[in-house]
Amino acid sequence: MTDHNPLYADACETCPTYDVFPESALRDGIDGLIAGYRCPNCGHIWTCGWQIVPGRSIPPEPITDSSDFNEHVTARVHEQAAMARAIKHLSKGDPA
Ligand SMILES: [Zn+2]
Repeated sequence: MTDHNPLYADACETCPTYDVFPESALRDGIDGLIAGYRCPNCGHIWTCGWQIVPGRSIPPEPITDSSDFNEHVTARVHEQAAMARAIKHLSKGDPA
């Protein structure tokens, strides 16, 4: 089967631009990924959680530098990853 989205592209929800590729991503557990996006047309920034698909390229980890984008996305990606972990804990009923 052909993988129609080998680079974890996502669509911008504010302008609609399709096939926006992640600028950075963090691993989330064993098989998850939180990717950060910036729309090239309207500048909207968002994150999206994915299940890692074997064979797909993993986007680069966030670069820690002083640009607004990297600071913003890195913070968002870390926040999403923390929330995803919290949700997994809750859904399993783990005592935190
Ligand atoms: Zn956009």
